[in-house]
Amino acid sequence: MALTVPNPVGAIHFDGSPRKLFIDGDWVDAADGATFETVDPATGEVLAEVARGEAEDVDRAVRAARRALDGPWSKLTPSERGRIVHRIGDLIAEHADELAELEALDNGKPMTVAKAADVALSADLFWYMAGAATRLNGSTISPSVPYMPGAEFHAYTLREPVGVVGQIIPWNFPLLMAAWKLGPALATGCTIVLKPAEQTPLSALRLAELAAEAGVPTGVLNVVTGFGEPGAALARHGDVDKVAFTGSTEVGKLIVKAAGETNLKKLSLELGGKSPNIIFDDADVDAAIAGAASGIFFNQGQVCSAGSRLYIHQDHYDRVVEGVSKAAAEIKVGPGLAPDTEMGPLVSREQHERVTGYIKRGLADGARATVGGSAIDGPGYFVQPTVLVDAEQEHTVVQEEIFGPVIAALPFSDIDDLARQANDSVYGLAAGVWTRDISKAHRLAKRLKAGTVHLNSYHVFSAELPFGGYKQSGWGREMGAEVLNNYLETKTVITQL
Ligand code: NAP
Ligand code: MG
Repeated sequence: MALTVPNPVGAIHFDGSPRKLFIDGDWVDAADGATFETVDPATGEVLAEVARGEAEDVDRAVRAARRALDGPWSKLTPSERGRIVHRIGDLIAEHADELAELEALDNGKPMTVAKAADVALSADLFWYMAGAATRLNGSTISPSVPYMPGAEFHAYTLREPVGVVGQIIPWNFPLLMAAWKLGPALATGCTIVLKPAEQTPLSALRLAELAAEAGVPTGVLNVVTGFGEPGAALARHGDVDKVAFTGSTEVGKLIVKAAGETNLKKLSLELGGKSPNIIFDDADVDAAIAGAASGIFFNQGQVCSAGSRLYIHQDHYDRVVEGVSKAAAEIKVGPGLAPDTEMGPLVSREQHERVTGYIKRGLADGARATVGGSAIDGPGYFVQPTVLVDAEQEHTVVQEEIFGPVIAALPFSDIDDLARQANDSVYGLAAGVWTRDISKAHRLAKRLKAGTVHLNSYHVFSAELPFGGYKQSGWGREMGAEVLNNYLETKTVITQL
């Protein structure tokens, strides 16, 4: 199958102009003047030249963030800070079309989906975090001190910003991952050096511009784009107090090592997944089929919490496999800018090779594709939505994160075996359970080692819901009230009365 791809010149907002680093309130070239190209994954053609920051640029940005930490930013009241954060949400909503277009161009995802999901969730995240700024309360404590009989104390805790934060984000939801990171960091009064993924720098740069327009003071938010190096430089920088990372488990481990070898900066990590989606014999099968399909095919399968292992009760195995395969076959694959596209290309040539490599590996190991099973002829990095059957639990395609539109379906009959298999993963990010038996659903929700368990649903994201992983899926949580802990220190103040 070949695709006809419209030229991105047809874009309405995007002008292809070169993009610079955003440091200390200025748009600047990289110290050595280097640039790199960001490409449209629907065509493989260059979209724009982007400044290629290196360690020296990161250092400049960190120094700006350090100065800004004690500047006017620290003098704002929580309410004033919250209003700025709220205004960022407003500006995202006002520029929804433009931002959705940037995501479609740079990442490949359908613009309609980007607008409905990525952009809307990003605005909402800032609106939620705006309220958090005025609720960063400590507590009062009357401590018991056994070795000081008769002494009386009054104690309280203060929640203070952790300081200068390095934020390293991936390419699968470029704007939304920036929002998940920036919202709580700004709400808590931190200052930031943000490092977008090399594949998708455009929307984060635009967001920085909108944040400045919203009133974020100079130096509070800096963005250093680049190719590998700036992320590593942030991770080992001695004056960065904390790194928040979303990406591969492999790079997450490198960041832990870098922090350990330098200043032991605080870390929060949101890493990979290989999440089970489980369909019982008493499920609403049609709803479960739709949930299984969107659980894997949403965002071209490039979702850390994608439901990539489909466990189906043997009574419904054939029906579900047939239903999910039919859904896959009907997906309209095309360039992100086309209004009727339901699935775009993968983000890059590298990712395309990785995903098609996994499909080949699965087939070589004995799996069979009921639908899809190969790449789509270029230009562009398109892969067919793929359903694999006859894979075994220990197969690579059942164990490793593919990060593409590929699902492995496995039958089960016994709930204890099922629970063991579902938890048989180095990851623990998400899970789905489809059943009409609420006791079974909640019992299984307790047994599953996963940061999010969806019951009769999948891919429900909200600024209010904590998100993150057990096991090697990460440390800490994004979103909800919990994410604030990533950006706050607790200070205990004790007075003897
Ligand atoms: P990745 O290498 O982990 O990239 C994520 C971010 O980390 C990017 O901003 C990247 O910068 C940065 N980075 C790379 N090397 C670094 C280092 N040594 N120190 C600090 N930061 C560093 O992910 P990828 O290579 O793009 O994708 C590979 C696989 O990771 C995917 O196939 C998927 O399985 C998984 N992944 C998971 C998520 C998730 O949401 N959990 C997201 C993306 C990918 P550069 O872009 O400049 O290299
Ligand atoms: Mg990479």
